[in-house]
Amino acid sequence: MDNGGVANGGQLRIDTTVPHPARRYSYWLGGKDHFAADRESGDAIAAAFPAVVELARANRAFLRRAARYLAESGVRQFLDIGTGLPAPDNTHEVAQRIAPESRVVYVDNDPIVLVHAQALLVGDSRGRTAYLEADVRDPDAILAHPDLLATLDLDRPVALLLVAILHFVHDDDQVADVVSRLVGALPSGSHLVLSHGTMDFSTPEGVAAYEKMFAAGGTDVRARSKATLQRYLTGLELIEPGIVPVTEWRPDNPADPRPVSPDLGIYGLVARKP
Ligand code: SAH
Repeated sequence: MDNGGVANGGQLRIDTTVPHPARRYSYWLGGKDHFAADRESGDAIAAAFPAVVELARANRAFLRRAARYLAESGVRQFLDIGTGLPAPDNTHEVAQRIAPESRVVYVDNDPIVLVHAQALLVGDSRGRTAYLEADVRDPDAILAHPDLLATLDLDRPVALLLVAILHFVHDDDQVADVVSRLVGALPSGSHLVLSHGTMDFSTPEGVAAYEKMFAAGGTDVRARSKATLQRYLTGLELIEPGIVPVTEWRPDNPADPRPVSPDLGIYGLVARKP
């Protein structure tokens, strides 16, 4: 398996020598669930792209604002794929603060997230949360999973969250297929929340340095352009302000400083299925 951990004869094996995106991201967010390999990889990426730590935090803040926006708009069901390790303001906490009856299904393929998933399952008793260990590259298995079907009613609108996950899937066509299968299974009134790494704001030298690092396996994030992300939104209506750096998506306080990095960026967007 390429995620560094395998379920072996029913026994979970966590390989702490291989850096995992979830643990590296937890390290950048200031969390505690990471190992030396994750910190080394996180430090190496941060050395080449110093903005990455700030961007990780900005991405988490975008997730919080987007989930709040959707809960305030009446969405009561959430499918959060690429959950990450529990961190302040997990999706069910944000949604249930506004609507306690909100239901959330979390999905991740990193076995260490599964180990910590208990913290995601203690939501408001009027709502419900579930955690599935699954791979976003197999959307049909996610959609047919009995725990998902026991938690979400797929005849009613669902917010699909793909926040900082699709850049780990390197093939553009595979991403298009995954998004269209997931969105295709949801009814009218559903939403897609997406964030994704980009080099659109970089200098040509920055892009060259990134491409070299990516080719050498120094980063597993496949940056994509706004035009490529737009292709994934076929049949959806973008909610204002469209595809923007995560910091620009409905900021809590528009007067807050919103750093733009010339090295690396993360786009955020929310779109609605008509
Ligand atoms: N969505 C959260 C966490 C992002 S970190 C947030 O934005 O705050 C990215 C997460 O995606 C990690 O937890 C990683 O394990 C997960 N991930 C990466 N590739 C995946 C895949 N193919 N299937 C499922 N989860 C994946």
